[in-house]
Amino acid sequence: MSRFFSSKYDAMTPYTPGEQPQDKVYTKLNTNESPFPPVEEVMDDVRAKTRSLHLYCDPNCVELRKTIAGIYNISPDEVVFTNGSDDALNFCFMAFCDEKHPAVFADITYGFYPVFANLNFVPYTEIPLEDDLTIDIAKYFHANGTIFIANPNAPTGIALTTDQIEQILQNNPDNIVVVDEAYVDFGADSMIPFINKYNNLIVIQTFSKFRSFAGGRLGYAVACKELINDLNTIRYSTNPYNINSLTMAAGIATLEHNDACIAHSKVIQENRAYTVAKLKELGFEMTESKANFIFARSDRIGGEELYLKLKDKGVLIRHLSVERIRDYNRITIGSREQMDTLIEKIKEILG
Ligand SMILES: *Cc1c(COP(=O)(O)O)cnc(C)c1O
Repeated sequence: MSRFFSSKYDAMTPYTPGEQPQDKVYTKLNTNESPFPPVEEVMDDVRAKTRSLHLYCDPNCVELRKTIAGIYNISPDEVVFTNGSDDALNFCFMAFCDEKHPAVFADITYGFYPVFANLNFVPYTEIPLEDDLTIDIAKYFHANGTIFIANPNAPTGIALTTDQIEQILQNNPDNIVVVDEAYVDFGADSMIPFINKYNNLIVIQTFSKFRSFAGGRLGYAVACKELINDLNTIRYSTNPYNINSLTMAAGIATLEHNDACIAHSKVIQENRAYTVAKLKELGFEMTESKANFIFARSDRIGGEELYLKLKDKGVLIRHLSVERIRDYNRITIGSREQMDTLIEKIKEILG
């Protein structure tokens, strides 16, 4: 750190993204990307858009909001787009958390929540998951602040039902509840249909996983108009041009081919069941994942050891050095071929 770096950030530890190694080609199962590239039409639309790169992009994202509103049966005023959903989450910490409204989230969940809390000088409370890594919803009733829930949770993949989330909302009428649905389209149920029933609900989604668009950086928040207005106040105070024109064109084209995303998700869910069955045969235990990853451990090998040995053999998975889950690895579900490579290499390692 230079001597000029503001001391107000002394206590801040930045987020550590998953490895994106450029040295060789890995079977990459460590950052929950889709194995399917975008459809051809996306590339055509981006190419066409390069002709107007000399002009500013639309800060209102009118076309993009209209298109997504059609898919989710909401009003365009009930959605705001951000540069990846991480930005939407950060905006929620900025807009809805402070000393009087601390952040509340699980002890084992998305690692960015404590980072955003620290960045915004927001105190936070961590609610421990149960021994089986599930969430006891009663522990979120009458919370002391703004609740953040990843559903399905990361890195466990375990999902709450919409009924359970409704109970959390009903028992927090004076608290905002942010539901981070990065993985919802791989088998869980979205809270988007409830945004007008609960004026304290914000749903965050991303194009990074289900929509094969991690490199395009596109996310969004869905909520009642009043809350979206608040998030826009933050957005217009940071970067009104947060969605560049190429991403906007690609995002619209991606939404116009929603069927392809749904078909890909079906394949991922089949490959998930396949991988779970194969790993069970090898003695692994897994949480019940509704996401495009599984969370696995085995008595036969430690979590870090498996991660390192697989990396040696060209397969990247994610090991998180958090004490409570050190035996586990988070493994992205990719193509059938990628999963067969993973299983073959694990067999070699276990001997
Ligand atoms: C991947 C992920 C996100 C967001 O990713 P972006 O690429 O910034 O949209 C948000 N929450 C969780 C739990 C995630 O796993």
